[in-house]
Amino acid sequence: MGFAETKLKSLALSLGADLVGITSRDILADGPPSADPCYLLPSANSVISFAVSLDRNIAKDFISKKKWQPHCDNRKAIAQTLYKIGDALVEQLGSEGYQAINVDPNSKYRPEDAAADVTEMTEFYPDFSHRYGALAAGIGRLGWSGNLLTRKHGALVELGTVMTSAILAPDTPIPDKEHPCDRCKMCSLVCPVEMIHSKASTQVTVAGVTETISRKRPNTCCWIGCTGYEGLAASQTWSNWSPYRLGRTMPEEKQELDALCISLQKADPQMQGADNSFNNYRQAVFDPDWFYYSVCGFCRGVCMSNREERLANRKLITDSGTVALKLDGSHQVADKNAIEIQTPFGLRVVVTSEELSNEQPKTRKWPGQFPLDREVIQYLRQQFKSADVKDRATD
Ligand code: SF4
Ligand code: SF4
Repeated sequence: MGFAETKLKSLALSLGADLVGITSRDILADGPPSADPCYLLPSANSVISFAVSLDRNIAKDFISKKKWQPHCDNRKAIAQTLYKIGDALVEQLGSEGYQAINVDPNSKYRPEDAAADVTEMTEFYPDFSHRYGALAAGIGRLGWSGNLLTRKHGALVELGTVMTSAILAPDTPIPDKEHPCDRCKMCSLVCPVEMIHSKASTQVTVAGVTETISRKRPNTCCWIGCTGYEGLAASQTWSNWSPYRLGRTMPEEKQELDALCISLQKADPQMQGADNSFNNYRQAVFDPDWFYYSVCGFCRGVCMSNREERLANRKLITDSGTVALKLDGSHQVADKNAIEIQTPFGLRVVVTSEELSNEQPKTRKWPGQFPLDREVIQYLRQQFKSADVKDRATD
């Protein structure tokens, strides 16, 4: 490793990166289209990949449904850190006369022919896959879930990428014998929408490494689960942090799943605002009022580096019940009095009946709640002001 590489890596580490590595356009050339850095920067020769770890204890409280908001806040802080690291690397490379860009850490997808905007997308191919860059740069390997797994932090990392015209000495991928995934399959067992098949596999090759990973259901399936349009597992005994329910089983066929996802996106108040995070992720994560609404990611949260911990995490997830919406915008584990109510957004919502019986107006705990929650709370307040809630809950 030369002086230039050491300087860039030290800079990233000094700003909060836990892991940093370098790869090249040529090394990534055998990967899928989203491994091509020239899509965003035609002059790209090198790719700097960096990872920031999530707070493990906060993640544990999240998956066990003890605390919701701290994990959301942790993700927002990390997104800010990723931008700051990337900006500093770009500035450094620019000062040396190289072209460089900081790739948005999330929410940026390649245009799809049939989609006018993100609400009509069904494939969600990223501009650049941070995971493929990280694999090639020796940050981690792809686990059965398809998530990027590191040796120290398991899958509990968020990734950032800078691509540059500078020619830098690349690192090598983690060898097979040190692969962090041991095929425990806990990721398959904690996905509420059964996105991650436990047996069927597929292969992906990047940087001369061929990974055998789960054959997943269409991406709109995860979109429905991860956005929170469906939080309940098929067993109906546990959910992710979403209080929303489709009120039907998830479609099997891709066409039907895609159509359902589009209809839900179209009805989702979040997608109506011009300032939503899909239009400008950077602006969203630096907006002090924006709440990083995370309700799932359980396939990642379960996947800590130690096998015993993963097995225990699976139980934390599946033994901690289901989630209801409170009228102050918070989410909590549902008790026996929780009921499901149809909303105007193509979804049912789980809410505790005590909440609806209470006529006292509730103040919001924080200003930047998810727009769907806000609209649903407003709807519930209007509909159920002083009525007998149980009589008015719809089937
Ligand atoms: S949960 Fe287990 S099988 Fe899934 S990616 Fe992590 S280590 Fe691999
Ligand atoms: S983020 Fe949630 S819905 Fe998506 S694959 Fe992971 S566990 Fe499943």
